[in-house]
Amino acid sequence: TNRIVVIGGGLAAATAVHELRTTHGFTGPVTVLADEAHPPYERPPLSKAVLLGEKEATTAIVRPAEWYADHDVGLRTGTRAERIDRDARTVHAAGEDIGYGQLLIATGARARRLPLVDESGVPATYLRTIGDSVALRGLLRPGLRLGIIGGGWIGLEAAAAARIAGAEVTVLEALELPLVRVLGSEVAGIMTAMHREHGVDVRTSTQVTAVEATSEGTRLALDDGDDLVVDHVLVGIGAQPNTELAEAAGLTVDNGIRTDAHLRTDDATVLAAGDVANVDHPLLGRPLRVEHWDTAIQHGKVAAATLAGVDAVADQQPYFFTDQYDFGMEYVGNAGPGDYDRVLVRGDAAGRVFTAWWLAGDRIVAGMHANDWDAIDEVRSRVGTTVDPAWLES
Ligand code: FAD
Repeated sequence: TNRIVVIGGGLAAATAVHELRTTHGFTGPVTVLADEAHPPYERPPLSKAVLLGEKEATTAIVRPAEWYADHDVGLRTGTRAERIDRDARTVHAAGEDIGYGQLLIATGARARRLPLVDESGVPATYLRTIGDSVALRGLLRPGLRLGIIGGGWIGLEAAAAARIAGAEVTVLEALELPLVRVLGSEVAGIMTAMHREHGVDVRTSTQVTAVEATSEGTRLALDDGDDLVVDHVLVGIGAQPNTELAEAAGLTVDNGIRTDAHLRTDDATVLAAGDVANVDHPLLGRPLRVEHWDTAIQHGKVAAATLAGVDAVADQQPYFFTDQYDFGMEYVGNAGPGDYDRVLVRGDAAGRVFTAWWLAGDRIVAGMHANDWDAIDEVRSRVGTTVDPAWLES
C-alpha cells in the first residue's frame, strides 16, 4: 500500500495532510486517526480569546470536517490508535489493522498531572482541550477564587483571562519567578510585575504540599506554612509528549520521539512531528523539542514534503507568542538556562514596549519584542547571527 496513516489530530497532523493534498498533489490514500471528537484545532486561543469569551471554541478548528471529505482524507475522529506493528506495517485502531506505506506520528503532548490534586478529588482543571477551555470559561465570574498552580505560559494567560473576568487569582510558582527558565530573570521579572499590577497574587518560590476539600472551598497548604482557600484550581505545570505508542513500537524515544531534520525516525517509513518530536536541528546543532504552535505548522510542512519524497529540513528558528492583558510578545530562538551569558533589554521596560536579546558570547541566541510589532523582522534577522558592535552601542 502507499497509504499514509497519520496518528494524532492536532495542528501538525492537519498541516501535513493539507500540504500532502495541495502543495504535493499526493493522490494516494490518507487516513488520520484522531482521538478527540473535533477535527484538528489550534490550542493557543483556548487560554486566550476562547477563555476570555471573545471567540467561540469552534473558531479554533483549522478546517471544517468537509475539507477532509472533499479532499478524500479519511479523518476518523474519536478514534485512538492503540498499537503500531512495524513488521506488518499496520496501526491497530477501533478493532481494525490499518496498513500503511508510511506513517506519521503526531500525537502531541498532554498536560502533566499533579497527583496531589488528582488524589484529593477537588474541582480542578488542566487546560489542554476545547472541552477544558469551555468548562473553565463557564466557571469564571467576579469573585471566583482561582488558585493556579504553575506560573508557565498557560497559567499566566489563564490568570489574565480570569482577572479580566473579575476573579480573584493567586498564582503559585515553585521557582523564584514565573517563566524564569524560559526568559531569564530580567524579562520574567517584567512579566511578574505586570501580573501583580493587574491584581494577581503571584507567590514565588512556593510549593503546594497538601490539597483538601473543606466546607469553605479547596484548601491548598503551602510550604511556607501559609494556607490558601480557593473555589477552583487550575494546574499548569507543563506538558509531556505522548510517546507511548512509539516507545512500544521500539522507536527511539528520548525527550520525545527522536528524528533527523527530515523528521524521519530510526525507521525510514515512520516520521514524527509537532510537540511529540525531538528533532536534530541543523542550526542549533542539537536535538530540539518545543511545544509551539508555529513548530507544529513547520513540522507539518516538512513531514508532508518528506512523505512526498521532496527534500526538506526543519531548520527554522523556533518562534512563539503570547497575549496577556494588553501585552503581546513574540520570541524567536531557544535560550534555556546555560545557553546564554547575558540579556539585553532595549527600549521602555517599565512601559512594556521593548526588545530583549539573549547573548552567548558574541552570538544572539534568542530575541523577543514586547508590544513592538514592527520589531519582529529585526528579531528574526538578528537571532542566530553574531552581534554587530555598532548595533550594541546604538
Ligand atoms: P497536539 O495539539 O497535542 O495534537 C495531538 C493530537 O493527537 C491530540 O488531539 C491528541 O489527543 C491526539 N492523540 C494523541 N495520541 C493519540 C492516539 N494514540 N490516537 C489518536 N490520537 C491521538 N503555542 C504557541 O506557540 N503559542 C501559544 O500562545 C500557545 N498557546 C497554547 C495554549 C494552550 C492552552 C495549549 C494547550 C497549548 C498552547 N500552545 C501554544 C502550544 C501549541 O498548541 C502546541 O505546540 C500544538 O498544539 C502542537 O500541535 P501538535 O499537532 O503537535 O499536537
